[in-house]
Amino acid sequence: MSSSSLTALIVLVTLIHIAAFAVMIVIRVRRNEVDGTIGRSALITPCSVCGEPATHRSYDGLDPNEQRDPHTGRAYSTDMAHYQPVCAAH
Ligand SMILES: [Zn+2]
Repeated sequence: MSSSSLTALIVLVTLIHIAAFAVMIVIRVRRNEVDGTIGRSALITPCSVCGEPATHRSYDGLDPNEQRDPHTGRAYSTDMAHYQPVCAAH
């Protein structure tokens, strides 16, 4: 093996080490970002329609025993399982 190809090999190995080190840093930063996202989503309930932070719950209209308010005419349910978290837009 000539000295020039040996030098090229050393440079290549060094570059691989630098690249591996950079990848490790990126993975560590990504992991911290994911942890942060999980911590935040535990506090904020996402909208069932678009995933934005929900501001209230809305009846999904799927209760077979749905009730109707005699004053407003609006359908509602006595089963909380039919209420989905939604954002202000939905
Ligand atoms: Zn929404």
